[in-house]
Amino acid sequence: MKLQMVDLVTQYGRFKDEILAEIGRVLDTATFINGPQVAELARWTEGYLGCKRAIPCGSGTDALQLALMALGVGPGDEVITTPFTFVATAETIAILGATPVYVDIDPVTFNLDPALIPAAITSRTRAIIPVHLYGQPADLDPIFAIADAHGIPVIEDNAQALGADYKGKKIGALGRVGCISFFPSKNLGAYGDGGMVVTDDEALAEQIAVIANHGSKVRYHHDLVGVNSRLDTMQAAVLKVKAPHLDGFNARRREAARAYTERLADVPGITTPAEAPYATHVFHQYTLRSTQRDRLARHLTTAGIPHMIYYPVPLHLQPAFRRDGIGPGSFPETERAAAEVISLPMHPELTTEQIDRIVHPIRAFATAEVGS
Ligand SMILES: *Cc1c(COP(=O)(O)O)cnc(C)c1O
Repeated sequence: MKLQMVDLVTQYGRFKDEILAEIGRVLDTATFINGPQVAELARWTEGYLGCKRAIPCGSGTDALQLALMALGVGPGDEVITTPFTFVATAETIAILGATPVYVDIDPVTFNLDPALIPAAITSRTRAIIPVHLYGQPADLDPIFAIADAHGIPVIEDNAQALGADYKGKKIGALGRVGCISFFPSKNLGAYGDGGMVVTDDEALAEQIAVIANHGSKVRYHHDLVGVNSRLDTMQAAVLKVKAPHLDGFNARRREAARAYTERLADVPGITTPAEAPYATHVFHQYTLRSTQRDRLARHLTTAGIPHMIYYPVPLHLQPAFRRDGIGPGSFPETERAAAEVISLPMHPELTTEQIDRIVHPIRAFATAEVGS
């Protein structure tokens, strides 16, 4: 089998009959918008995360924007988050006229370093967004303690870690509100875009649902300016089939990660990912650090091994998000991570034989480096 970062074709083969039957039901009934599968997936999400409300929406990016809008974030406001994340986290803050205020990461977990948050809080701080990067929960308790002390809501960006535990509890709805992405390559992926907002706050849930539906509770009556963000029924149909298997997918990811780490832990110049004592990591990505990252990447390209850099340029150094006084050196751990990380193929279908093929050229590279 050809090596790939993510193997959605093999996975489709496992669920093909069920998925086609469920999509068939959508077509047969022409329930393209808000069909029954959409509500079923919302109820599944509530049960899975143990939260009061799940509001379906168009994407993980929309979920973040809806959460920020419902919390009233707007021009002049500040939102604290990590510069080492996918652009959507900061983009949704900026699109509302607010300013992303970055805090550097913990070099071991790649997630927000809670100790650095207090210094970033001002009278304009309206929310804190920890990102559970690569599938590992951020250290939430100290973040909640700081947020509670200042009366600031926490929005979990849970696009990459659906199913992960923090101190024995499923993350996602532990903060005031959580945001899920069903992008195809995420741990629970649709066959297009999709997202979900989750919360225990009924009033906030109501507000999110209204904003997602053009600011309307009663059709053609608009109480506020909203957006159009829906989970497509076809996507909900696909997700409905895959959702009961999420824990199984995550278990397979964890097994693959263990197999990688067994084979790479002793390799000089390579740091394998660490699982924090408070977390169950669901390995959306298996991400190494290498002090020779760019040369290792070229070596893997030559050897035909897929790999990706998540993310090569921190958000504070992106032209779109540049701010006066914040440049290279502002967030040293983030910048070092951006220069050192490299992610290997990771998906539930990965076999031990494939892992051996991926690891071999990495070990060979390290041996050649030591010898040279
Ligand atoms: C994928 C992702 C998003 C956005 O989700 P989409 O469904 O692609 O819009 C947001 N934040 C993080 C950390 C992500 O990985």
